[in-house]
Amino acid sequence: MSAFSSDPIIAIATAPGRGGIGVIRVSGPDLRAWADALCGQALRPRHAHYLPFRHRDGDVMDEGLALFFPGPHSYTGEDVLELQGHGGPAVLRRVLDDCLARGAGIGLRLAQPGEFTQRAFLNDRLDLAQAEAVADLIEASSTAAARSAMASLSGAFSAEVDALSERIVQLRMLVEATLDFPEEEIDFLEKYQAAERLDTVTAALDGVLRTARQGMVLREGLHVVLAGQPNVGKSSLLNALAGEDVAIVTPIAGTTRDRVIQQIHIDGIPLHIVDTAGLRDTDDTVERIGIERSWAEIARAQVILHLQDARHPDDPLDAEIVRRLPAGTPVLRVLNKVDLLSGGSDLRAARGADDQDMPAASEEIQVSARTGAGLDVLRARLLRIAGWTPGTESPWLARERHVQALEAAREHLLLAREHASHSDQVLDLFAEELRLAHESLCEITGQFTSDDLLGEIFSRFCIGK
Ligand code: GDP
Repeated sequence: MSAFSSDPIIAIATAPGRGGIGVIRVSGPDLRAWADALCGQALRPRHAHYLPFRHRDGDVMDEGLALFFPGPHSYTGEDVLELQGHGGPAVLRRVLDDCLARGAGIGLRLAQPGEFTQRAFLNDRLDLAQAEAVADLIEASSTAAARSAMASLSGAFSAEVDALSERIVQLRMLVEATLDFPEEEIDFLEKYQAAERLDTVTAALDGVLRTARQGMVLREGLHVVLAGQPNVGKSSLLNALAGEDVAIVTPIAGTTRDRVIQQIHIDGIPLHIVDTAGLRDTDDTVERIGIERSWAEIARAQVILHLQDARHPDDPLDAEIVRRLPAGTPVLRVLNKVDLLSGGSDLRAARGADDQDMPAASEEIQVSARTGAGLDVLRARLLRIAGWTPGTESPWLARERHVQALEAAREHLLLAREHASHSDQVLDLFAEELRLAHESLCEITGQFTSDDLLGEIFSRFCIGK
């Protein structure tokens, strides 16, 4: 994308399709004269003008509001014109085309995805974490995620990162100053209690990292794979968790031949659940392909739900499946159809509830996809494996990129700490690790971000944002 051009840009800002209103947005460094000419009157800043949208040939294409926001007090920091008309694809397209034709003289062109927000970033209206929050707010799939995205957009996350940066910068200034006076190096660490300060910053960073991890779960969700033999109730369980029919349920073994991905929410956390073809030996080519895909999904899973028939908990074929599951991925062993167990099924279904302190990996839960018994326990377990602490709400949304940058910063702080604890005190190495830690934090808010990464981040936005 033409990342840093300042050509005037235009796009339909409302979602494609029909709607009550449709908004066209134009941004450019100097739009005032053009906007006045387009609208046939002098537009007052931030004032809603009700007017006809006239085609260059004279006929009225639509009527609606024109709003002019002079830079720098606009979304992009440039001059921005918004035309709010009726939300029909044909009428919006016609107004857009007419604007483009009449804007040829000033170099007006269609905006790339995310280009409005990118300009807001480049013009210091938003930092990078806030710009990302714009996209996250638009894409939020639950109220909790939307609320947290809004917190990031208003700068809550950036403020935490800036506060950490600030403390590291102070320490850096002390070290850098000392490096200029080698005779003071000897007692630098003691004199400025560098090790203690470093520990305090690291502890603060750990806190931010914890919240960021929660925020990442809220944004990205958890990839759960439902695995098991045919007919144990994988599709039924998926339906029960999703609350609607998404997979075909039949009593004939081997119906789920391809994967079905369903997104459900538990406490606002998105779970992407993949139902897999039943794992068994088969001569059917199509089914075999399905089973191969199942194993590929299982290899990528963050959590595996290994579903078994509660009536045959020791089926040797299940032992075979367990043997093939990837080491290191948490596995929840779920015994389904407890309603079919003769006697005491309620008691058994509830068994999972009283062992909250069991380790996350290789747990066993009894459920019934048919009656719903045990599903609450299953949901709670899934959340815990996702790293979600029930009852807490992440105050801001974070991305994997942010968590990685925080982890990198932490790593550098720990290395700096190591240098500080050596008796020969290699101060320049200490200073270098602090610099790298600072740089990692700056990547989050965008002070040190490569053009490639910026292009990548903004290209994922929708058009018109
Ligand atoms: P899959 O092949 O593993 O996806 O299994 P299905 O979800 O298609 O279920 C196979 C059969 O078991 C269907 O007839 C379901 O109605 C039945 N079934 C699934 N879960 C339960 C359960 O909890 N209790 C009972 N009684 N039947 C179930």
